[in-house]
Amino acid sequence: MTVSIVSHPDCALHDMGEHHPECPARLRVIQNQLISSGLDFVMLHHEAPRASRKQLCRVHDSEYVEHVFAKAPNEDRAWLDPDTCMNPHTLSAALHAAGAVVHGVDLVMSGQGRTAFCNVRPPGHHAERDHAMGFCIFNNISVGAAHARQVHRLERVAIVDFDVHHGNGTEDIFRDEPNVLFCSTFQHPLYPNTGTATDSDHIVNVPLAAGANGDSFRAAVESHWLPKLEAFAPELVLISAGFDAHVEDDIADLRLVERDFAWVTAEIKKIADRYAGGRVVSSLEGGYALSALGRSVAAHINALLG
Ligand SMILES: [Zn+2]
Repeated sequence: MTVSIVSHPDCALHDMGEHHPECPARLRVIQNQLISSGLDFVMLHHEAPRASRKQLCRVHDSEYVEHVFAKAPNEDRAWLDPDTCMNPHTLSAALHAAGAVVHGVDLVMSGQGRTAFCNVRPPGHHAERDHAMGFCIFNNISVGAAHARQVHRLERVAIVDFDVHHGNGTEDIFRDEPNVLFCSTFQHPLYPNTGTATDSDHIVNVPLAAGANGDSFRAAVESHWLPKLEAFAPELVLISAGFDAHVEDDIADLRLVERDFAWVTAEIKKIADRYAGGRVVSSLEGGYALSALGRSVAAHINALLG
């Protein structure tokens, strides 16, 4: 059993400024932790291709995609939203980040591997159909889900999102798409303050109060996510893997630790083993406390290895 890791060097060149929490060092600490834990040697490394305009436009308005291409600067920075900007490498990083999830889906669907982790940035789950938001440019996980539906003809794709922030972009994109089940836990109230007004059978939003620990998180997953996932019987499970709910991450106030990320990953994997031939593709979202991020991703990948 092995895990494929999909990434691209350009993802580390996207840089939004010295004090921006979504920084290139995030990928370095993950790589270093995977090497020091010995996991790197049992993972299959793949270089992420660029997502095509066609792949992006399955989930984004073509006008928005063209806007991002047009905004890409040759020097300095260009801002897409108050939290999100582009340097000369960002367009390439964003295309490879979305392309990584597409490639991960192709890998697990073709049987070249059962699970894949996309070690990419910029993250994606806040990006809506027609705008960038909250460090996110293209909605990487959604691009992968749409690829699985259209190219691999899957009837049921599940996306689970344990980032501390609500995946408003993913919900926006699949709001009217019952073939995609979206399960999310998030701190509320907290940016972007969405996810509590949804009334939909295929969108499972579970807000958690500031200070909630692993016990509350596990109870939420057990009572809200798992029964829905069981009933849905997904043919593929995608994970928006954000690690900013970690107790050491001061971007928010949840109190998860490495073993909680390992636990939820193992629960997701059990669902995938039962219904989806074990196929899981995970993609990095948030996680800004660098040491905790490296340790949490290692725990996540260990659990994917089973
Ligand atoms: Zn987040």
